[in-house]
Amino acid sequence: MKCLLCEDLSFSHICEACQNIFLTPSIYRRKILNNIEVISFYKYKDIKNLLHTKHTDLGYYIYSIMAKNSFKKFASSFLYENKISAIAIDDNAKSGYSHTAILNKQLSSKTILPEFAKLRAKNDISYSGKSKEFRMMNPRDFHFKPTRYKNIVIVDDIITTGSTLSQAITTISRHDHTPLFCLTLADAGTK
Ligand SMILES: [Zn+2]
Repeated sequence: MKCLLCEDLSFSHICEACQNIFLTPSIYRRKILNNIEVISFYKYKDIKNLLHTKHTDLGYYIYSIMAKNSFKKFASSFLYENKISAIAIDDNAKSGYSHTAILNKQLSSKTILPEFAKLRAKNDISYSGKSKEFRMMNPRDFHFKPTRYKNIVIVDDIITTGSTLSQAITTISRHDHTPLFCLTLADAGTK
């Protein structure tokens, strides 16, 4: 096949050289509700075209490649005193796969246990392109199912205003579980 980015012949949808150039992760940090840290690996504008493959057949492969370059590397060097459950925002399959479940799966390690279908929005409204006010007026109304471990890392693909993750934090905390931090592929607030 051809590399999506440079069009050279490649064994994968993005060749190794392009993965090194475009998908070597950085660490971007910001704090949201309850002073909880959100760690992101890419600037939104740098991987915008790749993120736009979600909900297409190609997106399955592209999200897997991005997740291996970032989430998997993070998990392999992450240590914590207790075991942690990892759950993804809204990991229901919309087009044959769930893009956030792909990310979560790559966190599997001695410390982190990815768990699925634990956090679902009862309100399926899209926040894409909507203002912070709109997001506050239209809560996602998350439903949380208890996880194996009390300490939790929350996974999503993009952080914009932080509304979605903040709502997830509130819901999880109400159920006597502890959100430790959040991981997202891309931060849309970075310059
Ligand atoms: Zn390439």
